[in-house]
Amino acid sequence: MRGLPNSIQARDVEYVLHPVTNARKHEEIGPIVIDRGEGIYVYDDQGNRYIEALAGLWSVAVGFGEKRLVEAATRQMAKLPYYHTFSHKTNEPSVLLAERLVKMAPDRLKRAFFANSGSEANDSVIKMVWYYNNARGLRQKKKFIARTNAYHGITLASGSLTGLPANQRDFDLPFVPVRHVTCPHHYRFAEPGESEEAFADRLAAELEAVILEEGPETVAAFIGEPLMGAGGVLPPPATYWNKIQAVCRKYDVLIVADEVINGFGRLGTMFACDYYGIDPDILVLSKQITSSYQPLAAVMISQELYDGIADNSAKIGTFGHGFTTSGHPVPAAVALENLDIIEEKNLVENARRMGEVMQAELRKLADHPLVGEVRGIGLIAGVELVADKETKAKFDPVGKIGAQVFARAHENGLIIRAIGDVIAFCPPLIINEEQIHDMVRRFKLTLDETAQELL
Ligand code: PLP
Repeated sequence: MRGLPNSIQARDVEYVLHPVTNARKHEEIGPIVIDRGEGIYVYDDQGNRYIEALAGLWSVAVGFGEKRLVEAATRQMAKLPYYHTFSHKTNEPSVLLAERLVKMAPDRLKRAFFANSGSEANDSVIKMVWYYNNARGLRQKKKFIARTNAYHGITLASGSLTGLPANQRDFDLPFVPVRHVTCPHHYRFAEPGESEEAFADRLAAELEAVILEEGPETVAAFIGEPLMGAGGVLPPPATYWNKIQAVCRKYDVLIVADEVINGFGRLGTMFACDYYGIDPDILVLSKQITSSYQPLAAVMISQELYDGIADNSAKIGTFGHGFTTSGHPVPAAVALENLDIIEEKNLVENARRMGEVMQAELRKLADHPLVGEVRGIGLIAGVELVADKETKAKFDPVGKIGAQVFARAHENGLIIRAIGDVIAFCPPLIINEEQIHDMVRRFKLTLDETAQELL
């Protein structure tokens, strides 16, 4: 195990239950203590430097150690460290942030509701949609449709929308009525010889069939990450979203775009909705909204939804939903400064340009014996490792080689994410060309060493 007796490592193993971690393996190997960060790098407590190629958990847009965010938080803490937004109270940063988000977001979206995490935001989405449909007299219209491999969070409701077995197994999920349709990953789920276009047609037909099977009067909303992240970085076929939207509109099924990872420049456009031409009724934002320096999420809703909710709140006497920290002034102040930095440093444009470099460099690894597919858009990419390039056969057991690559990458000064055997890249939006070359070089070295070990 890493660390001496009574070290932070040893005390971590003694006292902490870690999220999304194999607890017994953790007891065996212990944690790496991340001590500080600067730009695209983090340092452990032994002074080792790593390129943070996942920006933490897909989130540190402006990089680590950004003093402007520290100062924004400090200023706000000194002035008003906390206040709530229940029962007709407000504070300046949360209002300015809501206004700014409405002006930035796709046209249809006119109001912002604040939560602390993506999971809470998606729980809020489910409750708002139910409340809205009850208000419309559509009391049966409650079911959600999500996709296999989707990630929408881990609370009882958002975890029900998530389509990954590890987040549901033995948690008795799903807990809310949800159907999962096929995720739009051509490499894995297309029929032999099926074009991207035909694949997208088939998935739209599948969605329609599921809506009809359930009864359109019972289906409330379709939720999707425009480009799926935690399920393995899965960009859909180009025409997929147009086709899905048409089906949703035909049956009065609301469209929820979960941009918790995609939002604020990740694909080289401010929102992935802009990239794919999605016109959502609801947009969910988090992570890069504050570069995760502070916990914050926003649910953006259309005027129709707002009016339905507002009328119902008048009828009942209140919209009885919200958190102690909804609209907390400190995360809101940090978000405003973070958005200033994104704009001033042209980080969306940087993501587009550097994204081209990263995608091109990673695609050069497509010939590597371990690599089945390299995919992604802008500064998000996935490299899928396979046992057989021809047949696309996975390694057995799935996840073993991913874990090996993940561990070896650390030794090479690189933090990546292994999603099963898909290696994910999602570096801070401030990354430059030289750093991308360094990141990909370290990854190639890691792949070569892993391949060597397999021989
Ligand atoms: N939605 C998406 C698309 C996510 O990627 C995540 C987290 O990775 C969530 C929701 C949940 O966010 P949180 O971990 O803040 O609850």
